[in-house]
Amino acid sequence: MNIKRRDFIRAGGMLAIAGGGAAVADAAGVSAGAPAGAVRVSQDVPVLGDYDVCVVGAGPGGVGAAVAAARAGKRTILVEHYGYPGGAGTNCNSPTFFFDPYKGVQYLRGIADEFMRRLAKRGAAWFLTHDERYQPDYSRPVGDGPILDRVRSRIEDMRVAYHDFLDEAGVEKLFYTHLTGVVRDGGRITAAIVDCLEGPRAIRAKVFVDATGAAHLVHRAGGKTRLAPPDKTMHKSIWATLSPGPHDTPEVYKENQRIYNDLYHNHRERLPENIWTGLAIGLCSGYVNGNSCDSRDMTRMDAEMRRRNFELLACYKRELKGFEDAYIVTAIHQIGSRSGRHIVGRATVDKRLVTTSAMPDDPVMPFVRQWGEHAASMKHGFGGEVHGELDGLGAVPYGALVPVDFSNVLACGLCISVEEDYVKTIRMMPNCIVSGQVAGTAAALALDATKGDVGAVPYAELRRRLEAQNHYFA
Ligand SMILES: Cc1cc2nc3c(=O)[nH]c(=O)nc-3n(C[C@H](O)[C@H](O)[C@H](O)COP(=O)(O)OP(=O)(O)OC[C@H]3O[C@@H](n4cnc5c(N)ncnc54)[C@H](O)[C@@H]3O)c2cc1C
Repeated sequence: MNIKRRDFIRAGGMLAIAGGGAAVADAAGVSAGAPAGAVRVSQDVPVLGDYDVCVVGAGPGGVGAAVAAARAGKRTILVEHYGYPGGAGTNCNSPTFFFDPYKGVQYLRGIADEFMRRLAKRGAAWFLTHDERYQPDYSRPVGDGPILDRVRSRIEDMRVAYHDFLDEAGVEKLFYTHLTGVVRDGGRITAAIVDCLEGPRAIRAKVFVDATGAAHLVHRAGGKTRLAPPDKTMHKSIWATLSPGPHDTPEVYKENQRIYNDLYHNHRERLPENIWTGLAIGLCSGYVNGNSCDSRDMTRMDAEMRRRNFELLACYKRELKGFEDAYIVTAIHQIGSRSGRHIVGRATVDKRLVTTSAMPDDPVMPFVRQWGEHAASMKHGFGGEVHGELDGLGAVPYGALVPVDFSNVLACGLCISVEEDYVKTIRMMPNCIVSGQVAGTAAALALDATKGDVGAVPYAELRRRLEAQNHYFA
């Protein structure tokens, strides 16, 4: 069966393939993905299948959502642009899972915890060293006890473990496939239009989950989103892996760290521009700023960042110990964007929820009340211009996962509704897996109880189902 051109038109004239119009943002950075000048498909699009739940994006959030929905018995498809799962964690070379405890409590559990045990079984999960080298402490493998420290894994183990996880849950994976548009019928999305290697296809589903890390699904459907200006969002970088690195013993690292700090604070003219405040072992990366939701700007940043990595390499070779013969073995294949576009939800993780002791009526994911990091300019180091902390766990409201414009769409992971200054509370991989689990569970519950209306799910039942999955409520 095909989805015909007239179906797109009937869907309120909303975008079909590739919304073309530049969205106009208001002062708070909120915009609706305006379809002005949108391109309509010129061909009928074959329907790839009908699903209960379609999750777009196979990062930590999307994996959590797809596994939870499939385990709840829903026919679930997971669409991903790259050929493997893991999102920014695997494509930006970030194998450290931040399980920072709160007063001795492991508050990120459920599927995030399960995934760590799975990595541990593969022999690929250790707690982090405490000497600032950001390396696995091989004497402390993750075992069966509570996870009360950061966990370091390995990228390729993560990819395969995510694959296994999805396969065992019965998720249908559709990778090497890019979401290009949607079919929208008023306040519902009825199909996702994707570009598979074999050509464009439509995926029909009852509930959709936006796990793209930058609200691409909601944006392409013309929903409201929020994108902070480049100088207010986190800096971007491209990690480059060096070899032969300095022999990364604590002693050599300490010495290099001392040299680096001295250069950074006293002889900045001997360092390239826009570099990190601290030394990263075996890696080099400065930072760059721009709009991570703009192809031209991403292209500019990519070229700038890759060139700059060679300047930094030359500096390491000149100034540090053990780098004399170093070269760049590989670098991540896209700009690592730590935060981009977010949905505008029925509720938002905002200043009040983070910086006061306020608790929402519908808490679904706990967070530590700390804010501000990885500022755009790095003028203030990682702390950013707005930073602080408050005692006590806060919580993400369920409404922060529900876009204002749609009744059958949820968001999870990095692109939930959050004000930019408070992204720190929700953006790490374990948090994203957990919010994905919430979204997948809520999608299944909506199909069981509210005809797919995700905004109407009974909170008490959602909470009961999450608690049954080892989810922690503050
Ligand atoms: C450089 C860098 C370092 C980091 N370091 C750490 C760290 O040390 N520890 C930690 O816990 N976290 C770290 N993070 C943060 C963490 O990796 C992310 O916040 C997290 O991965 C977000 O998860 P997500 O699932 O919401 O989105 P993502 O991981 O961004 O996944 C989104 C997925 O959607 C796919 N996608 C997007 N658009 C489309 C489309 N149109 N069609 C199909 N697929 C699409 C993408 O390919 C991607 O796989 C780091 C992030 C970066 C960038």
